[in-house]
Amino acid sequence: MRIATVVGNRPQFVKAAAISGPLRTEHEEVLIHTGQHHDDTLSRVFFDELGLARPDRELQIAGASNTSQTARMMTALEPLLGELEPDAVLVYGDTNSTLAGAIAAAQAQLPVVHVEAGMRSFDRTMPEELNRVLTDHCSELLLCSSDAAAENLRRESVLGHVAVVGDVMVDVAERWRPRALADQATRAEYGVSDGEYLLVTAHRAGNVDDPTRLVALVELIEALPGPVVFPVHPRTRVRLEQAGLYSRLEDVQELRLAGPLGYAEFTALLCRARAVLTDSGGVQKEAYLAGVPCVTLRANTEWTETVLTGWNALVDLDAVAALAALEAPHPAERPSLYGDGHAAERCVQAIGALLMPGPRL
Ligand code: UDP
Repeated sequence: MRIATVVGNRPQFVKAAAISGPLRTEHEEVLIHTGQHHDDTLSRVFFDELGLARPDRELQIAGASNTSQTARMMTALEPLLGELEPDAVLVYGDTNSTLAGAIAAAQAQLPVVHVEAGMRSFDRTMPEELNRVLTDHCSELLLCSSDAAAENLRRESVLGHVAVVGDVMVDVAERWRPRALADQATRAEYGVSDGEYLLVTAHRAGNVDDPTRLVALVELIEALPGPVVFPVHPRTRVRLEQAGLYSRLEDVQELRLAGPLGYAEFTALLCRARAVLTDSGGVQKEAYLAGVPCVTLRANTEWTETVLTGWNALVDLDAVAALAALEAPHPAERPSLYGDGHAAERCVQAIGALLMPGPRL
């Protein structure tokens, strides 16, 4: 069977790295890169490090508003799917590339497989939330990271088949953990010692596109006890520079600013951090997997289990709450929440069951 996979940005390259290998042992995969993330630091480095096959097709669609970007992707995908004639279209997560792939496929009457289905923040102001909900309702096979995600889908009465397979980012994180833990060189490069530094990431539109919230983010970072490593996402860097705030951060003692890091460097810093402060979905989950406390710079999260188990605190951009969360002791227990590191195999099995006649998972 031929599967067209649509990817476009950083977390999707990580997820595709888990599934692409096992998928190709049973099917032909055609990898379509929309170009949503196109620069070397957000795209090429992930293909190189994670051993992901080069894209077969590159649409080079980036920038502009969410609506216009999604529309351009759909317009480009329609003839491409017509030409490729895949048996199914595979999409990941919650980006514009995810939604464009799902709608273009559903309109072409091709089955859509959604990996990381059912995640909800219940915050419809987030572009990602709209993308998730709409993609789920176009999908024929909805592969979930957790029972809570499957429950969200049942509550919404989606039409497709729902299966809990575990989270594919766990597969990648577990494979990389020994290397990340042993990578003293990366931590030395940033001048930090194990367990004594904070790692920060921030790039959500709700935090960096609103000038008032961007100032609050900067003030929160300034209030953190050092050393702090902050790999700055290109979107965030542009916003900080436009607001004249990047130079202010450069003056903060014990703050190491960097560009976006490759997966190897980033996970080497994450796994030995004292705590992580982030607005990223994937990073919240990876912190939990590494047993590193997380302080989430949002008022809500899709990864609710990490909060319920006491490993993640939602502080939005409240610096006082962030500092209090950093002082809180972390729980003794860290149950396995998102699978056993073999989610990709289950995804491939479920895709096989979707496309071949016979019983499903
Ligand atoms: N990541 C990375 N380098 C960085 C920051 C993040 O490799 O400088 C990885 C991280 O380990 C995770 C993924 O990027 O696997 C998360 O992507 P992102 O935060 O962009 O997206 P989200 O998960 O919020 O959709």
